[in-house]
Amino acid sequence: MPGPFNLDGKVALVTGANTGLGQAIALALAQAGADIAAVGRSAPDDTLAEARKAGRRAEWIEANLDDSTGVKAIVDSAIAKFGAIDILVNNAGTIRRNDALDFTQDDWDAVIGVNLKSAFFLAQAAARWWVAQQRGGKIINIASMLSFQGGIRVASYTASKSGLLGITRLLANEWAARGINVNAIAPGYFATNNTQALRADPKRNQAILERIPAARWGDPADIGGAAVFLSSPASDYVHGAVLPVDGGWLAR
Ligand code: NAP
Repeated sequence: MPGPFNLDGKVALVTGANTGLGQAIALALAQAGADIAAVGRSAPDDTLAEARKAGRRAEWIEANLDDSTGVKAIVDSAIAKFGAIDILVNNAGTIRRNDALDFTQDDWDAVIGVNLKSAFFLAQAAARWWVAQQRGGKIINIASMLSFQGGIRVASYTASKSGLLGITRLLANEWAARGINVNAIAPGYFATNNTQALRADPKRNQAILERIPAARWGDPADIGGAAVFLSSPASDYVHGAVLPVDGGWLAR
């Protein structure tokens, strides 16, 4: 009998699945039974190969999420390839670092465009399809510790991740009664491309490690279980929640 975390027959659209946390999430969902539509601008060859090795269908939908005008085409393409979408993981994200006094409008727009605007309009495109089909769905937004804290030298990133947690709650309020679960995962400090600059700076690296109760950087594999939970029937009554996967950072 399938258990509450089983994703057999489900289709998951995961943005930024070629690397880092998105890749780990896509592979955890594939292990749990889901077929994978990997959305992004770089070919997710390893992710597709691993998901297929697990016995799933997996396809790349090429898209640059700088520009949210293409999001309906992404959802249409996934439905054309797989017949449906059941799960959307808004994972693709980018970061720009500069002092607030010097922060440019380009660095503002680039981050807000990918991390917040495309995530919202992808959620809207998926939900419009679910509502038209009279079926439910699952949306997982990848938030951050900077959905809770201010950070430093990352103005547009903090704005985007704080905003993403806000719209997670807003969309949950609007869509829960339609059977659409909208939730977020807030990763702590994970060893990926996104944090390379922090890990390369010995002072920042040490300061971060000293504050993490688990006393280590997260490994991308640490995030998969939370994504499976929020994609599965086990979370059917969970709406507008944020699940930190942070080695205890927020408890400190
Ligand atoms: P990553 O390895 O740099 O992955 C970022 C992903 O987003 C890549 O697949 C990247 O594609 C994609 N992406 C960026 N800009 C894009 C665009 N314009 N169009 C399409 N795809 C785009 O970093 P990561 O750590 O795995 O980040 C994944 C998510 O977790 C992000 O939302 C990030 O903010 C969040 N997060 C990470 C941490 C952490 O400690 N690592 C902590 C909190 C939150 P390319 O490979 O083509 O650039």
